[in-house]
Amino acid sequence: MTTEIQPQPGIMEISLYQGGKANIEGASRVIKLSSNENPFGPSEKAIEAYRRAAHELHRYPPTDHRSLREAIGAVHGLDPDKIICGVGSDEIITFLCQAYAGQGDEVIFTEHGFSMYRISALAAGATPIEVPERERVADVESILAACNEKTRLVFIANPNNPTGTMIGGNDVARLAAGLPPQALLVLDGAYAEYVEGFDGGAALVEARENVFMTRTFSKLYGLGGLRIGWGYGPKEIIDVLNRIRGPFNLSQPQLDAAEAALKDRAYVEKCRTENTRMRAWLAEALAELGVPSDTSCANFILARFADQAEAEACDDYLQSQGLLVRRVAGYNLPNCLRITVGDEASCRRVAHAVAGFKALEK
Ligand code: PMP
Repeated sequence: MTTEIQPQPGIMEISLYQGGKANIEGASRVIKLSSNENPFGPSEKAIEAYRRAAHELHRYPPTDHRSLREAIGAVHGLDPDKIICGVGSDEIITFLCQAYAGQGDEVIFTEHGFSMYRISALAAGATPIEVPERERVADVESILAACNEKTRLVFIANPNNPTGTMIGGNDVARLAAGLPPQALLVLDGAYAEYVEGFDGGAALVEARENVFMTRTFSKLYGLGGLRIGWGYGPKEIIDVLNRIRGPFNLSQPQLDAAEAALKDRAYVEKCRTENTRMRAWLAEALAELGVPSDTSCANFILARFADQAEAEACDDYLQSQGLLVRRVAGYNLPNCLRITVGDEASCRRVAHAVAGFKALEK
């Protein structure tokens, strides 16, 4: 096309987001373990709330999300005025980049960091900077060494996707304290709920002016399809983000379903407990078959194979057995497969299939 109508610099460098496989052509029943979804689905209470709210779809939703913010504040012991809600935590990441990083600015994330950091940085016109990890764990020294006067945002997912690894509270605090004054540390807590007693970094947000936390309803709450996430940070930053947020970014059914899911604590606990139990079981079963993984703190494990060829062959075999997992070559982990922790039957199917694959190799 010969046209002078051109996108902003950086946009054409964006590679489209690769979601987990959702289906196998021709297969009647597949087990989807490719997108870190909750195998038990949403709470029934969330579904009821969603249905109820649908009767009011002719009305515009509230713009301030007060009721949901207050509910989040009550469950997590946080100030509702320091919360912002968005269309998944993806939207909060986008707002942060839009608001704080532009041409000539740098956005830092780690080697195996979540792909939306790069996409949102490029969409905002900023330069993404990927720094090395140490043995698949974020490395504070490498991040600090990459910082300079152009650094505006530093994203760390804790636990991280797709590695499942975490860095400790002291390291996170040291990172926050060592950043240049114009840089904001964003702690992405998409998987924080899977870590018993972990606040996702909320206390550090309270203690410092340069830390922000993002969270989601997509994982433990089983609401990936609903698209709701939230952010917690200093009031000044929340004010900035609210200025660029679409006033009606969330619908009433979304808001009501998220609030009902949040309040169904018994269901949340059941999902968390089952994930912890089956994660340990799956990691051990695969290790016994010669497929090790790092200790995962999330709802998936990163299974390591001898090389890319073996990982891909295993993926093909799993797929032939109706099991969808995730290749992570795009995350610089070509010899790994990311497997969501399913319910007990699904985990047993995965272990059985990997055993079948290993037997074929012999
Ligand atoms: N952060 C991390 C680390 C993730 O893995 C994901 C989902 N894959 C997200 C953020 C975004 O999730 P959502 O937009 O559904 O809240």
